[in-house]
Amino acid sequence: MKILNTHNSASNALRHDSFSYTDGDLVIEELSVDEIANAIPTPFYCYSASTIRNAYNLLSEKLASSGTSVCFAVKANSNVSVLRLLSGLGCGMDIVSGGELERALAAGVSPSKIVFSGVGKTRSEISRAIELGIHQINIESPAELEAVRDVARSLDRRASVVFRVNPDVDAKTHAKISTGKKGDKFGIALEDIAELYAKASAWPELDLAGLAVHIGSQLLDLAPYRSAYRRLVELVSSLRSSGQEVRRLDLGGGLGISYNFGQGPDVGEYATIIEETFADIDCELTVEPGRWLVGPAGMLVTEVMYVKTTGNLTTAIVDAAMNDLMRPSLYGAVHPVLPLQHAKGSEISTYQLVGPVCETSDVFGTYEGLPYLRSGTRLAFGCAGAYGASMASTYNSRDLVAEVLVDGAEFRVVRRRQTIEDLLALETDTVWQTADPRAAAATACYGAAK
Ligand SMILES: *Cc1c(COP(=O)(O)O)cnc(C)c1O
Repeated sequence: MKILNTHNSASNALRHDSFSYTDGDLVIEELSVDEIANAIPTPFYCYSASTIRNAYNLLSEKLASSGTSVCFAVKANSNVSVLRLLSGLGCGMDIVSGGELERALAAGVSPSKIVFSGVGKTRSEISRAIELGIHQINIESPAELEAVRDVARSLDRRASVVFRVNPDVDAKTHAKISTGKKGDKFGIALEDIAELYAKASAWPELDLAGLAVHIGSQLLDLAPYRSAYRRLVELVSSLRSSGQEVRRLDLGGGLGISYNFGQGPDVGEYATIIEETFADIDCELTVEPGRWLVGPAGMLVTEVMYVKTTGNLTTAIVDAAMNDLMRPSLYGAVHPVLPLQHAKGSEISTYQLVGPVCETSDVFGTYEGLPYLRSGTRLAFGCAGAYGASMASTYNSRDLVAEVLVDGAEFRVVRRRQTIEDLLALETDTVWQTADPRAAAATACYGAAK
């Protein structure tokens, strides 16, 4: 079995595969995953720096002719070392919370390369963003627009904003990750933009620079982009014909990957759609991919604990679970399984792989063609670099697992594993309170208000 990088297609293959089997041993870059697992207790996430680098370089190369810049959607993988790696290549950041803003800053990202998306930004998050002078705040509702204006006024600063439009396009993806259709909670309805744009462009606290769209995640069909982008162009034309200035467009993320080592959408074609659609529009362009940049670069390494057979179903209980990798239980996603050792001619069987969490949905899937599994056999779930560690929880009081970054022949723990002491430290006994309970609660949760 040869593992191909999932970005490849004949014309747009990445320059080299970062995962392969050498003599039956799963290798990431130049290291045996099994040897890493001898040093780091399973489960843990393991990322390939080269794969991330190659993905970013390929995308930015394809987008160069249209002058489109790239902001990484931090929520896909918010590890500071991953952010630093991407930022070092020239990538900006698309954040959706104050926490992600602090992560981007911790990674050394300049505020001038940060875009703030998200449907419900708090006033303190908005305040921090404006004080830092970030590149852009994407406004998702008239009420949020007023909040941003008020905060900017109170700080005596000007905020750079764009409006996120809901273009009412079906992204043809999983219902839980569609974001650009009427009824989805995201963005401002197309028909409401003109009036709001005219109103806000007159406010001195705001620099209204343009528009944004993001229609969904894990798009495998590129046609919805074409539809959404055409609507955006029509909107720009109509705003301009009524005298408004539109100079910046944020085209969102969502580019999908293949989760079975097949062919994902063609990134060259994606770039061509952008180039063709916006050729005559004379706007600064940005895209915000998350999954596409990091998804194929990561794996979740795990170990079989027990194997049991019920009727004709054989189940292997592994030490990773839904709290570590939520996508299977949340979206019914199936991650490919890679045995760390895959000797030629070994016995092959079908197994249901499950985690130890007390939930019926803690199932990774049923896999054919796996080698014989027993206690101690190590496996990896592939394509787990996006929405893996960043979505993990401590459900069942399981600690957040370690994250490891491999670069060439070296690896580094880029997040240590959480301990139960870390978890328990938050649950200190405070005194019972009666007076002004809201102020007291706020102090306990967030520290004293400024
Ligand atoms: C989640 C998100 C993205 C990234 O989505 P991917 O599918 O990971 O590319 C981009 N922009 C916004 C506004 C998002 O919410």
